[in-house]
Amino acid sequence: MLRGPAPAGLADPRGHGGLVSEILRVNPIACTAHGICGELLPEVIQLDPWGYPIVTAVELTDELLSHARRAVASCPALALVLEKGRT
Ligand code: SF4
Repeated sequence: MLRGPAPAGLADPRGHGGLVSEILRVNPIACTAHGICGELLPEVIQLDPWGYPIVTAVELTDELLSHARRAVASCPALALVLEKGRT
């Protein structure tokens, strides 16, 4: 029996179909445009001219996922989150 969240890319153990993955999201209200996330994860996050992040990739590979977790942990405004999503 699986406990806790399924690893990225594994089928949903509850049988709801589709794949469970993690999706990077930015809370635009909380974001204060530090730009740290864009520096830590340039493959996925571009910064607009004012320093606000634009998430450009929907799917995160295992390697990018570890970098994404580091970017989430480094966000001083707690505005960057990884959420479970279904592909
Ligand atoms: S690190 Fe956090 S506050 Fe800074 S730009 Fe990225 S999401 Fe916004």
